[in-house]
Amino acid sequence: MVIEEMNSLTKDEDFDELKNKYQEITSVLAAHQIALWEYDIPTGQCSFTDDYFRILGLREAGIVFENIDDFYQYAHSEDIVPYRNAFSQMLESEDKISQIQVRCMGCHGEIIWLEDHFLSYQKNEAGHPEKIIAYTINVTSQCEKESHIRRLEERNRKIIEALPEFIFIFDNNFFITDVLMAPDTVLLHPVDVLKGADGRSIYSPEVSDLFIRNINECLKDGEMKEIEYPLDVENGRYYFQARIAPFEGNNVLALIHDIGERVHQAKALIEAKRKAEEADRMKSVFLANMSHEIRTPLNAIVGFSDVIGSTYDELSEEERADFVRLISINSEHLVRLIDDVLDLSKIESNTIKFTFTDCSLQSLMMDIEKEQAMKPISEIEIRASFPNEDVYINTDATRLKQVVCNFINNARKFTEKGYIHFGYAVDPVNADSVNIFVEDTGSGIPQECQKEIFDRFYKVDTFKQGTGLGLSICKTIVEHLQGDISVESEMGKGSRFIVTLPFERRTED
Ligand code: ADP
Repeated sequence: MVIEEMNSLTKDEDFDELKNKYQEITSVLAAHQIALWEYDIPTGQCSFTDDYFRILGLREAGIVFENIDDFYQYAHSEDIVPYRNAFSQMLESEDKISQIQVRCMGCHGEIIWLEDHFLSYQKNEAGHPEKIIAYTINVTSQCEKESHIRRLEERNRKIIEALPEFIFIFDNNFFITDVLMAPDTVLLHPVDVLKGADGRSIYSPEVSDLFIRNINECLKDGEMKEIEYPLDVENGRYYFQARIAPFEGNNVLALIHDIGERVHQAKALIEAKRKAEEADRMKSVFLANMSHEIRTPLNAIVGFSDVIGSTYDELSEEERADFVRLISINSEHLVRLIDDVLDLSKIESNTIKFTFTDCSLQSLMMDIEKEQAMKPISEIEIRASFPNEDVYINTDATRLKQVVCNFINNARKFTEKGYIHFGYAVDPVNADSVNIFVEDTGSGIPQECQKEIFDRFYKVDTFKQGTGLGLSICKTIVEHLQGDISVESEMGKGSRFIVTLPFERRTED
């Protein structure tokens, strides 16, 4: 009625001023691409201003349609159903105040976005609204901007999702204002902990300083900075690289990349280089040792054999026997040396075979005791001691015996008087372990050398006979037997070598 009446107020002079005002208002509204129309609820009729289509920039300028269904031919096919539903909902609602968006065809074939706002203004006797006044706004530029922003957001989201990295936005106080990442990215800290957190609560003081320094520089000179840093969390240390660039006002954007793989590769390379250098050094030490160690017994064997061969008749029976004994001792030493080297090379190339069987420690010790009794030494008592209770362990008995005999042979070598005592006992602290020991009252080993004596070719006294390989072979064997090797020693008092092996208690059958 309002619009119809206003438009028909041509003759009545009383309304001239009012009409002028109305036209003024509608022209102001038109300038903002806002057009009025009216809907009559009982008849379903729509009334438009003459300029409705022109104001809104619709294609069919000047067309007036009678009821709302006529309108649908101008609406975008996808929007007809949603508009129709929203319109009926608005009619059914109590207050009839509503707004609906719809796409229509513009006068140049382009899509234009319209937004209808409804307001009921005339009620019947029963108090029900009969007329609805509506104004339509052309919101195309706003909608285009919104859809442009949505497209940009979508594009950014896709870029972020495709990145192997993730992004932290820091403000100039080093607070993490936002975290951007692909949905399946797993961070070391939960995102809700990171968002809004003070960087100092995430990073160590050194890393925080590094970040703050670079953020400040970046904000000052506007240039990208690149830093690498470690991050310690419960299950270990991780390494990252951050590219820091200025971003929106006083913020910076840090593109963070996991460089753990690279750091570990670099570390592995350094370690491999160290090992190669160590192996090279060991090889030289080995060759130097070997040439010395082989030459000494070999010289003796060759020398005394020559003497016996060339001066056999001139030598007394006693001298001959003496030289033969020396040849025999040196041959034995040479054989042991070669055995050690072969053993070592087998261990190094992993060709050494370990055969695990259930073995009685008592009978193993008794065997060794018998063998040692056949080689007595004056001034040294060699004795074995073990508890009445036998201990059965699943192990390689031959290799274990080799270790114990190596300890005893060393004890023989470095003990002049006193005793050599060997045996086993269940560990007093851990009842699932057994300690096999060889104890002597020999020279002892200086405290500072005790760690190194298990290294290859290590000898406290280089002039003493031996290859320096025995204990390192023992250590490797014990490791294969899942045990531990250790030494306790005091200079001038003696040493105690211990092998600790796990064992399972046998229940009596
Ligand atoms: P080697 O064949 O030279 O004895 P090992 O590896 O068996 O080689 O021993 C390394 C070094 O450890 C020995 O040279 C010696 O200095 C020291 N050592 C080993 N056992 C004893 C011991 N029972 N008493 C004193 N020193 C020992």
